[in-house]
Amino acid sequence: MSHEEIHRSHRVGWLRAAVLGANDGIVSTASLIIGVAAANTTHDSVLLAGVAGLVAGAMSMAAGEYVSVSSQSDTENADLALEKKSIDEDFEFEKDELAKIYEKRGVKPSLAQKVAEQLMEHDALGAHARDEIGISENGNARPVQAALASAGTFTIGAALPLVVAWVVPVDSLIPYVAVSSLIFLALLGSIAARAGGAPIAVGATRVTFWGALAMALTAGVGQIFGVVA
Ligand SMILES: [Zn+2]
Repeated sequence: MSHEEIHRSHRVGWLRAAVLGANDGIVSTASLIIGVAAANTTHDSVLLAGVAGLVAGAMSMAAGEYVSVSSQSDTENADLALEKKSIDEDFEFEKDELAKIYEKRGVKPSLAQKVAEQLMEHDALGAHARDEIGISENGNARPVQAALASAGTFTIGAALPLVVAWVVPVDSLIPYVAVSSLIFLALLGSIAARAGGAPIAVGATRVTFWGALAMALTAGVGQIFGVVA
């Protein structure tokens, strides 16, 4: 009887980045909007602060992601160049090294040797990249893609409380933005938990709690500034 396994780990990587980006967008922009509104400012200045927060946040997410993924890409490329040099200089040694990796994984020495020999003949660098270094031959890091994805998901997240702030009157803006943002966060947390095979309630509670805390703190700071200013 055949059975089908659903593996989720391959989708967790980009999902986690997408959820983190959108989560950051919602929490930071909603908190900014609530903080500025709590300081008794006009509707226009609340919206202006929200738009500035969206642009600044998206750019900093993109820059941060680009820099961190680029340095990962640099490391991967340096590892691949080192590996290629070592294979060119001592093919036999590298073949034995590969065979030992398969032996450690439970393959019989004679078969491990044969497998290593055939894989080295077929694509020596690819085999070492995959089985020794743990990356695909062309590297896993895509800095531009990661930066765009991060900025894009942040922007989508940030646009949600901003649209709410735009359509509701300024005197009821704080409760509307707060409640709607918590609902967005709970939805996001549930989707991420569901896709990752984790309990939905835990996922939703986790992001909602931190979102609520961030909004409450900035509302408090905004109120203090509103009184002082
Ligand atoms: Zn090697």
